[in-house]
Amino acid sequence: MDLKIGRLFKCQICNSSSLHKIISLGKISPCDSLLKKKDLSKKGNKYPLNLLRCKDCGLVQIDYVVNPKELFHKNYPYRSGITKDLKNNLEKISKNVTKNLKKRSNKLVIDIGSNDGSILKGFKKIGFKVLGIEPTNISKIANRDGIKTIQEFFSHKYSKKIKKKYGKASIITASNVFAHVSKLSDLLKGIHNLLDDDGLFISESHYLGSIIETFQFDSIYHEHLKYYSIKPLIELFERHNFIFEKVEKIPNYGGSIRVYARKKKMNSKIGSSVKKLLNEEIKKGLYKKKTYDDFSKKIRKFKLNFSNKILNLKRRNKKIIGIGCPGRAMTLLEYCNIDHNILDYIAEQNTSLKIGLYTPGTKIPVLDEKKSFDDPPDFAVMLSWHYSKSIIKNLTKKKFKPKIIIPLPKIKLVN
Ligand SMILES: [Zn+2]
Repeated sequence: MDLKIGRLFKCQICNSSSLHKIISLGKISPCDSLLKKKDLSKKGNKYPLNLLRCKDCGLVQIDYVVNPKELFHKNYPYRSGITKDLKNNLEKISKNVTKNLKKRSNKLVIDIGSNDGSILKGFKKIGFKVLGIEPTNISKIANRDGIKTIQEFFSHKYSKKIKKKYGKASIITASNVFAHVSKLSDLLKGIHNLLDDDGLFISESHYLGSIIETFQFDSIYHEHLKYYSIKPLIELFERHNFIFEKVEKIPNYGGSIRVYARKKKMNSKIGSSVKKLLNEEIKKGLYKKKTYDDFSKKIRKFKLNFSNKILNLKRRNKKIIGIGCPGRAMTLLEYCNIDHNILDYIAEQNTSLKIGLYTPGTKIPVLDEKKSFDDPPDFAVMLSWHYSKSIIKNLTKKKFKPKIIIPLPKIKLVN
């Protein structure tokens, strides 16, 4: 379960070699490795992006591990705290889990992959001691905001150091970490080591059911090694002596699941919500080949339709830009061959760390959204389409002029 860098030939959870290839998206650049102007002429790294499904445990996964130091480099530009809905949802975790916890003052909450500290801020507000672990320079933002954060990759070995210095944690959280980590076994051992015997471990993962249902194929990228449904997740946690008490669906990243796990004891039982979701997945065909054959066909058809529509506008001399620059935009743009010759630039809100950089592979400049108001283009492709409702509301308020193209789940034009 602790993967080596490079091509994989076996399932990332159960080690089976019985894998079904769903689709190949070609060679794609690491999505958060945005380029500086001086690097534009260099040939950037690209890696194969193939989606597969394990016929044994059901895990949907990619078959190539890019070095985590390349993916989650020091200047990693993604901040969870700048997406308002997400920030609110992350901060709310604390309220949901602590309703029944009275003594808080000396309890410790640790967040793994804590980014800018959005989750821990919620816990700190209601009186917990908090500690973040984050390998990128985003940790500096968290520290500046008063959330104590260690800049480090979390591991079993490192968990021993933390335990020695800070003691065990009552609550450990990890949002969008399980899909990203290549050394899963080591990670879970570390969490088991660091968690109180009665402690709670909460993890959030982008949900495969939502990816299929709302056609989020653009969320397939190298940072996401796995696309979780509950069945393989149960298997993974049980192997590491955890049991799921509860699961809930949450809206983050266009549909995620949040699972609550505790250390396995003699009499522990899987929660009823977990069993319910498992049955729902079976009914919806999440463990059937046909579901993925259809998904694959739909992706290939989308590519043709979408590139055609955009190219037709370009042929008519229309000026087109992108709105929002999430990691997933790189898959959409690179897979559909839409580059800097087609999109003039991508507009980002002014708090984004991506402004002034260029998208890898497609080399589109990322600029302050102000430009799209001062000098409006004809069309704008909504690249953050999974948040399009709140973004459009905001843009309308500010009298945004261009026509908006929402690419997914279905190509749609908003005037
Ligand atoms: Zn498997």
